[in-house]
Amino acid sequence: MAEQNVNKLMDKLVSLAKRRGFIFQSSEIYGGINSCYDYGPLGIEMKKNIKELWWKSMIYERDDIEGLDASILMHPKVWEASGHIEGFTDPLIDCKVCKSRFRADQIDVNKPCPVCGNRDSFTEIRQFNLMFKTFMGPVEDSANVVFLRPETAQGIYVNFHNVREAARRKLPFGIAQIGKAFRNEITPGNFIFRTREFEQMEMQYFVKPGEDEKWFEYWKEKRMKWYDRLGLNRDKLRFHEHGKDELAHYARAAFDIEYEFTFGWNEIEGIHNRTDFDLKRHMEYSGKDLRYFDDETKERFIPYIIETSVGCDRILLTCLIDAYTEEEERVVLKLSPAIAPIKAAILPLVKRDGMPEIAKEIVQNLRGEFRIFYDESGSIGRRYRRMDEAGTPFCFTVDSETLENKTVTIRYRDSMEQERIPMDEIKSFLIEHIKA
Ligand code: ATP
Repeated sequence: MAEQNVNKLMDKLVSLAKRRGFIFQSSEIYGGINSCYDYGPLGIEMKKNIKELWWKSMIYERDDIEGLDASILMHPKVWEASGHIEGFTDPLIDCKVCKSRFRADQIDVNKPCPVCGNRDSFTEIRQFNLMFKTFMGPVEDSANVVFLRPETAQGIYVNFHNVREAARRKLPFGIAQIGKAFRNEITPGNFIFRTREFEQMEMQYFVKPGEDEKWFEYWKEKRMKWYDRLGLNRDKLRFHEHGKDELAHYARAAFDIEYEFTFGWNEIEGIHNRTDFDLKRHMEYSGKDLRYFDDETKERFIPYIIETSVGCDRILLTCLIDAYTEEEERVVLKLSPAIAPIKAAILPLVKRDGMPEIAKEIVQNLRGEFRIFYDESGSIGRRYRRMDEAGTPFCFTVDSETLENKTVTIRYRDSMEQERIPMDEIKSFLIEHIKA
């Protein structure tokens, strides 16, 4: 029963996401392609807002982090050095009867197959590398194999000295990057929670060895606080510390920030103390000296790295789920105004008496600064409902009183309360209310 409700909620969200233009199945007219999605007009706005908020908090609001946009295809040696060729694998197991495929660490292989119920039907466990391979140039042989990056982080490590020198940075400092990553996941699913192509927002903070634990604590707290700015429900967020057996090969300590989804607590962000593993390995494999020279102590050493890594698509899904609310007469997305795709709707109450003209003038005045929506079709109630489903926090209605005193009705999405404000205060109202 509980499972049914879980699926129902996800089904409703998937359907709303399509109906309102947040997210579409990729290549839908051809029957779709598993676990690939396209962002529609509202989805792309929301995603952009999330990325901007992350970028702002990493770069604009601080003075110790630089940005980078490294290429997706990298020298194949990068993935040897990083350990991905050897170790970026998931254990794969198949049911010989129903041909279902599972991650062996996600099911109990001593029990019957969870799909068909047959006993002793599993194959041996095989290690499956999650990196997508392709070929560079026209010849498809092993010398030309390149990989689609499974994380953006390596692009940052190999550029450590380029950025440090160009930006004249001293430790501690960070490099932040937003970009696509690809993993050939065995079991993608839960809509955009786990996909094979996704976007990451990663920041690598380079510190002196010995200062790593302090900075790890700092970033752990800092990152958890960031979710307040997205308006997420604090009770649904928690830390999960990786036990010794969960720790990745490079990590000394790792905490996940988890969200309580309808399908259970799951990771949305990882914060890792990667020690000097990455730069040491790249130094070894490239033969280049990647040490840092400390002017004050005259020491040369390999910096330690604290990483914060979050999936933009996964955050977007989290925000949609967190915001999805069913009330007696409506479905409403109670998104934080900072990430809502459309900031305000401008609605003439009726299509006459000069109301559309005034409403369009208001739109004109706001355009360029905010994503605004003008709508004159249908009853005002239906227009409000449409905006509720799109997560638009404010509707401004031009009515007969506007003609008399140049005020408009503002209708708040969450409370549905209405009040009047002067028409010429709409802009400052929005500036103030969409800040995060
Ligand atoms: P998992 O154990 O769930 O496979 P992971 O621990 O390998 O994930 P990381 O390598 O730490 O994940 O990736 C950092 C972040 O990138 C995750 O917290 C998540 O937000 C995002 N991410 C990772 N894999 C995917 C995916 N397949 N689809 C969408 N987002 C992903």
